[in-house]
Amino acid sequence: MKIAFIGLGNMGGGMAANLVHAGHEVRAFDLSADALAQAERNGCETFTDAAEAVEGVEAVVTMLPNGEIVRAVYEGSVFGKAPAGAVLLDCSTIDVATAKAVIAEAEGRGYAMVDAPVSGGIAAANGGTLTFMVGGADEAFRRAEEVLNPMGKAVIHAGSAGAGQTAKICNNMLLAIHMIGTAEAMKMAEKLGLDPQKFYEISSVSSGMNWSLNTYTPLPGVGAQSPADNGYQGGFATALMLKDLRLAMAAAEEADAAVPLGSRAAALYEDFAGAGNGGLDFSAIIRTY
Ligand code: NAD
Repeated sequence: MKIAFIGLGNMGGGMAANLVHAGHEVRAFDLSADALAQAERNGCETFTDAAEAVEGVEAVVTMLPNGEIVRAVYEGSVFGKAPAGAVLLDCSTIDVATAKAVIAEAEGRGYAMVDAPVSGGIAAANGGTLTFMVGGADEAFRRAEEVLNPMGKAVIHAGSAGAGQTAKICNNMLLAIHMIGTAEAMKMAEKLGLDPQKFYEISSVSSGMNWSLNTYTPLPGVGAQSPADNGYQGGFATALMLKDLRLAMAAAEEADAAVPLGSRAAALYEDFAGAGNGGLDFSAIIRTY
């Protein structure tokens, strides 16, 4: 298949390489010359103009920083430039409202389009083991699946347009809450004189079990091997968690959803990132206890 790929950064670079490995012809565009040079080494054909990259393609994949950029790229360089009938896939994490609006505009112009944000970081993007949460019409999903399969271990149809972004931000809000809860409980146990390893052994098989505790234990040397054991380097950066929490808070406000714990978690991550910790793994928030 002939596929245009726009946004070949930390995530998109590896994703595009996996499309090449699967035998697709990948036409790459990024504003960064370094990203394009790497894409070329990975077997992509490179372009210095997005509108040119999407000429004659059957699919367009975007992996960009935010909703504003996604909207600008589709309106400026994809709509009316990619052949009508092409399937469009935005894999970026963006706000639900923009995702829905861009998909509605795409459909109005005769394109099939899905929002398909991912779970999994740079290692999963490189390894082709991302999880895609996809929002869009049945037919658009069916066509998108073929493009997404070589880049992921799971491709799940979440629902209609915007449902992928909704699943992503609700999941990450829950993740932030149970990470903070886990940090709080572990440090309190320690303060009360309980060996944190014992707390882990007990709680990870009791009703307090959760992913942050069981498989991403935020204390170094305790429980599962995690970024905590590596000085909180790698993993899922606090700055990216904060981005997702801000999107979650905006969506909650729009939907008039009550999120007392989500908004507290967002405030705690605002403070933690604001204190210069944006580059650390998000589990490092345990250091504030
Ligand atoms: P990144 O900053 O490394 O990559 C973004 C790329 O987009 C850059 O190469 C940049 O040059 C390019 N770009 C920006 N504006 C452009 C434009 N107008 N036209 C073409 N290219 C443009 O970011 P990333 O870490 O790859 O993240 C991409 C998306 O994936 C984000 O929405 C992020 O929230 C999401 N995400 C990231 C991770 C992660 O662990 N990094 C995990 C899950 C989801």
